[in-house]
Amino acid sequence: MEARGVAILGATGSIGRSTLAVIRRHPERFRVVCLTARRRLEELDHLATEIDPDFVVLAEPPDGGFDPVWQGEWRTGREALAAAAAAPEVSIVVNGLVGFAGLESTIRALEAGKRLALANKESLVVGGDLVLRAWHGGEGELIPVDSEHSAIIQCIRERPAHEVSRIILTASGGPFRELAAGRFPEVRPEDALAHPTWSMGDKITIDSATLANKALEVVEAHLLFGVEYDRIEVVVHPASIVHSLVEFRDGSTIAQLGYPTMEVPILYALSSPERLENTFRPFDPVTASPLHFEPLRRSDFPMFELGVEAGRAGGSLPAAYNAANEVAVRAFLEGRLDFPGIARVVRTVLERTEGVTVDSLEDIRRADTAARDLTRGTIAA
Ligand code: NAD
Ligand code: MG
Repeated sequence: MEARGVAILGATGSIGRSTLAVIRRHPERFRVVCLTARRRLEELDHLATEIDPDFVVLAEPPDGGFDPVWQGEWRTGREALAAAAAAPEVSIVVNGLVGFAGLESTIRALEAGKRLALANKESLVVGGDLVLRAWHGGEGELIPVDSEHSAIIQCIRERPAHEVSRIILTASGGPFRELAAGRFPEVRPEDALAHPTWSMGDKITIDSATLANKALEVVEAHLLFGVEYDRIEVVVHPASIVHSLVEFRDGSTIAQLGYPTMEVPILYALSSPERLENTFRPFDPVTASPLHFEPLRRSDFPMFELGVEAGRAGGSLPAAYNAANEVAVRAFLEGRLDFPGIARVVRTVLERTEGVTVDSLEDIRRADTAARDLTRGTIAA
C-alpha cells in the first residue's frame, strides 16, 4: 500500500507537533507532503530540514525576505496556505490552524475531495451550512480530531442520527472548575493558561477556562452528527478519561475511554476505519478510578450559553460569537481585559449584532470583520 500524502496545517502548533509524532511512527502509511506555519520561520525551517516535505508554506513571511537552511520549495502568503489544502499530492489534510483563519482551508480540502482531519473546530462552527455543503456535496471526508468528537464518531459507528437519543459531551471543567465566580476578576492569564489535564495552544486553553470551547464543541457535534441541540448535553468530568458518551434509543449508552493524549484521536482521524499499532500507556481501570461526573456551572460560565445560543440561531451569529471571542481572548492575554470581561464583551457584541443568513465565504468574512470591529470598539470603550 502506498503511503498517503499528508498536509499538516499549523505544523508548529500543539496539534501539528502531535501529528508529526504520530506520523513518524508510521512512515509506511503516511508521508508528510506539506508543512505550514504562520510566522515561526526558524521552527518551520527546522522541521522542513528534518522531514523534507514536497513544499512548505509560511503564511505571514517577514518583510524583507528570509534565508532558510532548507533548500526545498517555500511558498508564502494566505492564498498559498489555502491552496495547500487542495494540492494534488495531498490525500489527507490535518487542519491544526487556530480560529477563523482555518475556514478557507477546511472548505478547500473538502471541495477537493480530501480527507479532512479537523482539529480547527472554529472553521466548522463559523462555516456551518457552507462547510456541510462542501462536505456532503462532494467526495471529501470529514473526520474530527477533537477528542470528544472522535469518541462520539467511534461510539456511533455510522448508525443513523434517529437511533441516537442523546450525545453527552464530557468537559474537564478547566482550571476554574472549583473557583468561586466572585474571584474571577482576580484571574490572571497565567492562571487561565494552566490547564489541569491537557497541554494545548493558548487560544483553546483560554476557551477551556471560559467554557467557550465546550460551546464550540456542542455546535460542532450538532453539525457533524446531525443531532438536534436538545439532545446534546454536557457533563463535567475532571479527569478527562471518558471522552464522551452516546445514548441510543434502545437504552444502551456507549462511551470511549483513554488517558488524555491527542495522539489517539489524531491517529484515528488518519487511519480510520482501520486501527493501527500505537505506542500508548495501557489503560488501567483501577488507576483511572473512580470516574467522577458533576453538572456544569452554567450561570458562572456565560460563554457556554452564549455560544450554544449563537449556534442554535445559526446564520452569521456563530461567526460573530467566534470573532468576538477571538478578539476578547487576545485582549485578555495581553492584559487589556479581565477574565469576566471576555463574556461581558462577547455578550454586548451579540446583542448589537443582527443575525443574517450567509451563503458564501464572502458573507461569513463580512460577519467576521464586522464583529471584530465591534469587539475592538467595545473593549476600547
Ligand atoms: P497552537 O496555537 O498550538 O498552533 C496553531 C498553529 O497554527 C501554529 O502552527 C500556527 O503557526 C498556525 N496558525 C495560527 N494562526 C494562524 C493564522 N492566522 N494563519 C496561519 N497559520 C496560523 O494551536 P493548537 O492548540 O494546536 O490548536 C489548533 C486547533 O486545534 C484549534 O482550533 C484548537 O481549538 C483545536 N484543538 C486543539 C487541541 C489541542 O490539544 N491542542 C485539542 C482539540 C482541538
Ligand atoms: Mg475537545
